[in-house]
Amino acid sequence: MPAPRPPLEEVLLVRSLATVTPADPESETKCRLAAAVDSASEEILELSHRIHDHPEVAFEEERAAGWVAEVLTRHGFSVENPAGRLATAIRAIRRGGRGRAGPRIGILAEYDALPGLGHGCGHNTMAASGVGAAIALASIADELPGEIVFFGTPAEERGSGKQIMIDDGLFEGIDAALLFHPCDRSHVQSFPLASEDVEVVFHGLQAHASADPWRGKNALDAMILLFTSVGLWRQQLRPEARVHGIIQEGGTAANIIPERTKAWFMLRSADQGYYVEMAERFREMVDAAARATDTTADVTFSGGARTMKPNPTLEARWVDNAAAYGIVDQGPDPNSGSTDMANVSWVCPTIHPELSIAPEGTPGHSIKFRDAAATPTADRTTLLAAILVAQTAWDLFAGPELLAAAWRDFRAAGDPPAATASGPQ
Ligand SMILES: [Zn+2]
Ligand SMILES: [Zn+2]
Repeated sequence: MPAPRPPLEEVLLVRSLATVTPADPESETKCRLAAAVDSASEEILELSHRIHDHPEVAFEEERAAGWVAEVLTRHGFSVENPAGRLATAIRAIRRGGRGRAGPRIGILAEYDALPGLGHGCGHNTMAASGVGAAIALASIADELPGEIVFFGTPAEERGSGKQIMIDDGLFEGIDAALLFHPCDRSHVQSFPLASEDVEVVFHGLQAHASADPWRGKNALDAMILLFTSVGLWRQQLRPEARVHGIIQEGGTAANIIPERTKAWFMLRSADQGYYVEMAERFREMVDAAARATDTTADVTFSGGARTMKPNPTLEARWVDNAAAYGIVDQGPDPNSGSTDMANVSWVCPTIHPELSIAPEGTPGHSIKFRDAAATPTADRTTLLAAILVAQTAWDLFAGPELLAAAWRDFRAAGDPPAATASGPQ
């Protein structure tokens, strides 16, 4: 597919980023990183728009992963795709010219879309900015100690691809992990909720819904009871807890007693321990609905995401680097979702900074946000994010004391909290 040239106004916006004086320390090198993003801007934005135009859902991001791998190969990375057991995962390494002794800094990128919506979370901008940051760092690879390690991480929206990559050992030896996520606000601190996907299937027995309904066992009644229980439960839940779901199979005809129904729920909480209590309670509600309707149920928990371990040292450095570009941190987002980047935060110092691509109040996971992810504003933010991720990574390569401070934060924050039902034990 031919690469469309970005319109002139986008190119001019990029030039304005390359003329900014970056934050100290190392502002001269950071300036060269910004210039490298500038030089590659056409390639970066073309990637963002191509992924936006061809959305692929969790675990099926074959084209996106292929395009990302292609660009990284072109810029001298040694690329594994697949990486570990996931066909659409990538690990791409570029060794620095100052020897292997040095940090291994991870730059992460997601590229999955939402079913029926497309890139309503804007992961196209994250993929492109991550690649852009990797390209910029590769341009000064001769000056780097250690390694740039790019991770293409599938299945963030469902399935916790990063946890699978952690389990596959791909994050072993990584000293810090960075990414950028698009948002309607700009902030570095995130407090994502512990979360899990739950599939519920009720099994009943078919019968004619008018002639002999008493011979049937109604799997839809079980599902309605479960939704009713969940609806009542919400009043008793703590304010930061969430439970929500959709019915994916509700029967096949009005004149057949449904023998099978299926739903996809998500349970979430800001408190990992409370999440575990919620999961137990939810299982009891499923059992109760099955008993009341003389049906049976299968419950499958998967894709556990944790709460996040913050890293104040890395957060402060990001805020400084962003401030040089006029970004004022708006403070933690009060509206939390969940992310498997939180699972990485228990492996090494990690940040999950977000930058605005849309007017404040634009709902995430919506058509509005999807459309915002392909505008000139999003393009400029994608390039800015590439610059800031590269600069913050450079701070870690160039400043062993910064990395040591990030690890002190990491150790001081203690051990992981209790796991999710499907997560690591
Ligand atoms: Zn997202
Ligand atoms: Zn999302």
